[in-house]
Amino acid sequence: MTKSYRNIFFDLDDTLWDFTANSRSVYHKLYDELGYDRYFASFDRYIAIYEERNTQLWDEYGKGTISKDELNVRRFTYPFEHEGIDGCRDLALRFMRSSLAMMPTMGGTVPGAHEVLGNLAGRYHLYILSNGFRELQSAKMRSARLDGYFDKVILSEDIMVHKPATALFHFALSATQSSAADSLMVGDNIDTDICGAMDAGIDQVWFNRTGRDPGHLRPTHTITKLEDLLSILP
Ligand SMILES: [Mg+2]
Repeated sequence: MTKSYRNIFFDLDDTLWDFTANSRSVYHKLYDELGYDRYFASFDRYIAIYEERNTQLWDEYGKGTISKDELNVRRFTYPFEHEGIDGCRDLALRFMRSSLAMMPTMGGTVPGAHEVLGNLAGRYHLYILSNGFRELQSAKMRSARLDGYFDKVILSEDIMVHKPATALFHFALSATQSSAADSLMVGDNIDTDICGAMDAGIDQVWFNRTGRDPGHLRPTHTITKLEDLLSILP
């Protein structure tokens, strides 16, 4: 069945803006500059410890059990705790402040992002629906020259409710005067982007960048390259 869509909601991080590549490059630079090799066996070890805890902390932030400040401090102090190293809190906070300042200046996009958005712009209403913070997401979009494609940017911070909460999807529909029936959500995260849209009655395109197993979930569409979106939206 081919359905005609009018409104396309995009996740930002790792769907359009290459969060994985951009953050790794910032963290690697700071790891070298701040002499983290005194404390960790390698950058790869540091980043593995950081990323595992970071994912858990984002979940906790999403559930509202920790604040934005706690999220930011804890994800950078944790690798030292994990390695049993004391007295590095100030260093971790320097790393945090520098990375938060550098991240929005990074312009790396997921392969195909500009090509796909350029093709869809003017034919569909395009929106961002992201769990990120306003000041960061706007700057990231400007650095990556992604800001010109979108009619509106909807962020969880606007109503302090995060994907996959149905309330955020309903808010996005109403803020853009869209109906669920002719809207589509495109995102890389099956738990937040896809489950959330599914619960709100919105069709979904799961951008499965990492070859993850969808488990019992059946997204409306699944793509492995962003360019494949153009066959769903001809
Ligand atoms: Mg994402």
